[in-house]
Amino acid sequence: MFKIRNYINGELTEPQAGRFIDNYNPAGGEVYSLIPDSDVQDVENAVHAAQEAFPAWSKTTVEERHDVLSKIARLIKENLEKLAQAESIDNGKPVWLARSVDIPRATSNFEFFANAITQFASQSHETNQTAINYTLRRPLGVVGCISPWNLPLYLFTWKIAPALAAGNTVVAKPSEITPMTAYLLSEICIEAGLPKGVLNIVHGYGHTAGSAIVAHPMVKAISFTGGTQTGARIASVAAPMFKKLSLELGGKNPNIIFADCDYRQALETTIRSSFANQGQICLCGSRIFIEKPIYEKFKADLVQAVQGMKVGHPAKDDTRIGALVSKQHLEKVESYIGLAREEGGTVLCGGNRVAVDGYEKGYYLEPAVIEGLPNTCRTNQEEIFGPVVTLMPFESDEEVLGYANGVRYGLSCTLWTQNLTRAMRFATELEAGIVWVNTWLFRDLRTPFGGMKDSGVGREGGFEALQFFTEAKNVCIKY
Ligand code: NAD
Repeated sequence: MFKIRNYINGELTEPQAGRFIDNYNPAGGEVYSLIPDSDVQDVENAVHAAQEAFPAWSKTTVEERHDVLSKIARLIKENLEKLAQAESIDNGKPVWLARSVDIPRATSNFEFFANAITQFASQSHETNQTAINYTLRRPLGVVGCISPWNLPLYLFTWKIAPALAAGNTVVAKPSEITPMTAYLLSEICIEAGLPKGVLNIVHGYGHTAGSAIVAHPMVKAISFTGGTQTGARIASVAAPMFKKLSLELGGKNPNIIFADCDYRQALETTIRSSFANQGQICLCGSRIFIEKPIYEKFKADLVQAVQGMKVGHPAKDDTRIGALVSKQHLEKVESYIGLAREEGGTVLCGGNRVAVDGYEKGYYLEPAVIEGLPNTCRTNQEEIFGPVVTLMPFESDEEVLGYANGVRYGLSCTLWTQNLTRAMRFATELEAGIVWVNTWLFRDLRTPFGGMKDSGVGREGGFEALQFFTEAKNVCIKY
């Protein structure tokens, strides 16, 4: 069986202890490759390689870093089909989605930060014509990047590219549930001529390999995307060591639909924002608030459209909903549908397992739409992270603002209205790091990305990411 290997000091190596983890194909439920079960020793080797590589890499010119990162971007683009197939097999997402979104975005991440670093400038402040202050920004050293399974290569490269562009060396760990494209990226980095030790990829579990990265004294910063509970655990180890921390965590995003919206657009986008990637995107809108006058019509149209979404094998082009990422995750999502029923909700459609012909052991679930639950119940307060949405009617701006903000999370919000004053008022008052008005997941990589409240601390994207991965030092010179 194919064995994924770690990428340490420029080489593809097996874990020191020789242990491996089974890697499942969610579409058929079978083990199809093996993942290194790396431990503290593997992380130690990776951190040492990164530490050794740091002096030379941090002294490379911006142009040199631009060139090698651009080359990685080019190679990702050239390997689009291979990477898209690998992502789909590993994750269960439709291959057309990996081909049109995940992998192109990985290319863009490298292209964007290869260029952004050439535009990254320091500030200077003249003080009362007697002194000049200027800011030096220096890379931190060895940094740790830890990513989740839902958008594997997309989110992995979103961290690695700015870290490398800013002159850091990196020890990175992809999710043990979806490691394949990170492994293929290590092959690409070798082909691109990335100097050895600059990027090290260690595979394995979070509680072993991941926590060893977080706890390592030589690792100066942790950029983490994943669950809120994991983020809290990481912070409890990293904060007392005074590491820089960027935490992109869970969400329970509201999707607010006013009666004055562009109805067709709101409906079509809501179908996507609810169920894209099987609802496994941190930015999916899982609580849909619909203004009373259009509630019944929107509900009927949404349910009809959702019932028509084809659940099927991820390799097929007409599949709208692929497989959920793992058996455990499938069971978790199902348990929330059960909870919704216990809490008094009505499942309007979906929520049952699907046996796909020839792939009966795959992790398939019908997309579910639920109504009749208050905003305060567990179904509406906890992150489900699957193809499940709830519908709730509302009558006034005040009421829906209270619902939208009435959760511990604050990642993103989508708002549908033609009323500019209302849109701007909501944009100010919503407790969310990202507000989309009359669109969803429309991204510009220059913008700050991240959440408030229990959805995380810090921002990624644009110069925010480059600031995170550098230390600012002020120099004051008196004339
Ligand atoms: P997770 O927290 O279980 O795992 C994320 C990563 O952390 C994995 O690589 C895992 O191995 C590692 N990890 C686990 N325990 C660790 C520890 N103690 N120390 C160090 N590393 C550890 O999350 P997941 O299930 O992979 O991903 C789903 C979650 O990610 C959801 O909550 C989702 O909302 C969130 N997410 C957030 C964003 C965002 O931008 N805010 C984006 C995507 C996903």
